Formats: sequence, C-alpha cells, structure tokens
Amino acid sequence: MSLYKNLIGGEWIEGADINRNMNPSDLSDMVGEYARADAKQALQAIAAARAAFPAWSRGNIQARADMLEAIGNEILARKDELGNLLAREEGKTLPEGIGEAARAGQIFKFFAGEVLRPEGEKLPSVRPGVDVEITREPVGVIGIITPWNFPIAIPAWKIAPALAYGNCVVFKPADLVPGSAWALADIIARAGLPEGVFNLVMGRGSLVGEAILGSRDVDAITFTGSVETGRTIAAKAVERLARVQMEMGGKNPLVVLDDADLDTAVNCAVQGAFYSTGQRCTASSRLIVTEGIHDRFVGAMEAALKALTVDDARKSGTQIGPVVDQSQLDQDLSYVDIGVKEGAKLACGGERLNRATEGFYMAPALLTETSNDMRVNREEIFGPVATVIRVKDYDAALATANDTVFGLSAGICTTSLKYSSDFKRNSEAGMTMVNLPTAGVDYHVPFGGRKGSSYGPREQGRYAREFYTIVKTSYTLPV
Ligand code: NAD
Repeated sequence: MSLYKNLIGGEWIEGADINRNMNPSDLSDMVGEYARADAKQALQAIAAARAAFPAWSRGNIQARADMLEAIGNEILARKDELGNLLAREEGKTLPEGIGEAARAGQIFKFFAGEVLRPEGEKLPSVRPGVDVEITREPVGVIGIITPWNFPIAIPAWKIAPALAYGNCVVFKPADLVPGSAWALADIIARAGLPEGVFNLVMGRGSLVGEAILGSRDVDAITFTGSVETGRTIAAKAVERLARVQMEMGGKNPLVVLDDADLDTAVNCAVQGAFYSTGQRCTASSRLIVTEGIHDRFVGAMEAALKALTVDDARKSGTQIGPVVDQSQLDQDLSYVDIGVKEGAKLACGGERLNRATEGFYMAPALLTETSNDMRVNREEIFGPVATVIRVKDYDAALATANDTVFGLSAGICTTSLKYSSDFKRNSEAGMTMVNLPTAGVDYHVPFGGRKGSSYGPREQGRYAREFYTIVKTSYTLPV
C-alpha cells in the first residue's frame, strides 16, 4: 500500500510516523496509510509559507482567482469519488458524503469570485486637502486546525478564503480523517499555486497543532473542534497576541410548539438530531416540546427512529452510518446510561448494533422526560442521542432553549408568525431556523455561534474577510 505524504514547501514528504486510517463501517477495511508529521516538519511548513507570502500576497489576482476556480471545478467533477472516500473514512452516508464534497467545490468557486472583489473606501479627511483610504490586506500565514466530522467542507471553508484574500496556509487536519484532507491537498497542489503557499501537515494535535500554536511565524489561527481544545488554543494564541477564530461545540435546541405541523417537526428533529449520526456541531440535541403536542410528537419520533436504517455508510438505503470510532461510541453509550441514571426514560434505541461487517453501529437513542439541568442536556454528546424536554408554553421553551453555555444554532417549529419572530429576535444563538432542522446551512452566508460555541469573527460568505484580512487606514496629503 502506498503512503500518502505531507506537502511541505511544494514537496511531498514522508512523516515521522504512519497513521493507518480505518473504515468505521468495516474494521477490516484500511482506507490508507498516511504520513504523520512531527513538530519539526510543521515548523518547516510554516517557514515555507512565510517565505512564499510576499510574492503570493502581491501576486496577480486574476491568476489567483483562476486557481481557486480550477480547484472548485475539479472537486465538483470528482464529487462522487471524494464523497465515497469521505463516507468510507468518516462514516457519513454516501449521499451526505457526496453533498459535503460538492459543498467544498462550491466554496472554492465562491471565493474565486471574492478574489476579484477586493473592497476599499476613500473618504475626505477632517483636515482639508488630506485624503483617507481604507484598504484590506492579507494577514500572513494562517494555521488551519480542523475536526474530523466535516473532513472536506470545513477545510474548504477555511483554506479557500485564506488563499483568496492573499494569505499562505499551513493546514493540519484531524488525525481520524486524513484521507479527505489529502485528496483536497492533492487537488490544490495541482492547481499551480507557487510552492509553500499551501502546506499540508497531517499529524497529532499535541505535536503539529502545538507547533502551529507556538510559532510566531503563524499570524493567525483558525480552529474548529471541541470547546476543551479551543480553550487551550485561545490561551496560547492570546499569550503571543496571534489573531484567532474558533468554532466549537453546541447543545442546540429545537423548540416544538403546540401549533407546529407535526410532520415538519418530526422531520426537522430526525434530520437535525440523527443524520450524519448526530455528529454535527449544529445537531438538534435538545428537543423542547410544549405540553399540547408532547405525547403525539414523542410517539411519532419513536416510530420514525425505529424505521431508520442504520448500516454501512456506503450501502444503498443506509440513513444512519456508524459512529466515527470506538471512543466516540463509548462516549455516546455512556451518556445514554448517564441519562437513565439521572431519571430520563429511554424511549428507544441507545444500544450497539451488529451488522454484516464489524463497525461502530448504534441505534438512534431518544431520552424523554428529561430536565434541562441533567448532564445529557448540559454537555455535548456528539452522537445519535437526543433528549426531549417537556415545557408548559412558548416562554418556558425560549428560556430553556437559551439556558445553556452554548449558542450555535437554535430552531423552532411553529405556524405562528408571532412566536417565530420572537424566537428569531430573542434566541441566544448565532443561527436560528424556523421549520427547518438546526443543522443544514448555506455556504455563501456567515456561519457561527455565540457564547461558548464561537470565538472571534464569523466564517464563510463575505464575512470571512473579517478574519482573513487586516484593515489599513492611509492618509495622503498631495503636494
Ligand atoms: P478536537 O477538539 O478533539 O480536535 C480538533 C482539532 O484540534 C484536531 O485537528 C486535533 O488534532 C486538534 N488538536 C487537538 N489538541 C490540540 C492541541 N493541543 N493543539 C492544537 N491542536 C490540537 O475536536 P474533534 O473531536 O475533532 O471534533 C469534534 C468537535 O468539533 C465537537 O465538539 C464539535 O461540536 C466541534 N465542531 C464544531 C463546529 C462548528 O463550526 N462550531 C463544526 C464541526 C465540529
């Protein structure tokens, strides 16, 4: 089996160690062997990015736009193959994997357009005769650290704007999913970027990630992952005054009011909480349901969950793939136990499943009769587990929805304009959804949360430039 290597300064280089990438749907299937860089190699990648920055940041923007367009086009042309690889290494279903690959392609094409739309302002000064110009400049070398659950879309939504606005990149993907990251890097490497502009350093957070955090040659760090890692990253970045942006966990509420359309509510809850095996930062993990619809909603949810097909991610008809690995599966199963011990009722699911191949399969679990102070409602589980919290009315639903340290996405199912408008205004989340799942967003508009879910400027769409550019104010007295 050939070794997939790291890209450092334009060359594919072997690592200090080898990462054997396994298929969570079939533990006898090895996806590939991937090089793991060490801290020294990470520093070489950073040095290469730093050396490439002056020419790249001042280079021809038409050429830069063409390269991003070519990357986007190739991803889109190969979305089935890339989606298959993604499903094989991460466990998303094949349609979800293909959809994610397509999104990565669309993101590169969006930012290819952004390259040609640099904006500035020219204003009169308060001092007569002086001109004031406000321009945006690239930041420098960007360290990109990504999680395992969106192995191609999250790297794309960080790499594409970084390059588009004239920065150089050192990209460290999650150790669990090097395959999609490598495939993306291979496409980027063939688009004609000068050497060192884009570097791939697969490896462990404790080595490669720490090297990126510690290097003064990395001007900015963009991170998506858990709150726990985020805290370490923020502390280290702030200590050396590096620019930092972080997207982290969620405990996203979906409110279902008495006047909701039941089918819509069940559909939103099933999709939002359980698709992608519940392994989404935007997953609807807390279902907050008013009394009048509670029993009908729970009955319909149980029926819908029992009818879901849990199987090999790439098998036709599979709706829920496996959990990503053994430790995540252990965590999911243990939270079901914790919930029951705290007094919740396990309405359905919550057990490990056997399929034709050995994998990390779990029956989607619904915990009912929960209260918002239970651990299963306070802590991010990150698996196919959702809770139901019964509340008296809309006011109690809103208060419960906001009673969390997180604030990424929040949804409401209702046919009332009054309640949906009030929810959009008063929900303490970065994204709100009406009659839609809390997960599932567009790629051309900002993405991000509040409170413990996010730190720093928004990602995606035109708002991405807040992080990937620095504002300069220039004064001129023409003499
Ligand atoms: P994680 O925090 O364990 O790891 C994320 C990345 O950080 C990985 O690449 C990892 O190697 C790296 N890392 C770990 N320790 C490090 C260190 N000391 N220094 C530098 N880098 C280090 O997260 P995960 O398990 O890969 O992903 C799941 C988490 O990501 C969940 O909490 C989920 O909610 C969150 N997530 C958030 C969003 C969002 O946009 N808000 C999107 C997807 C996932």
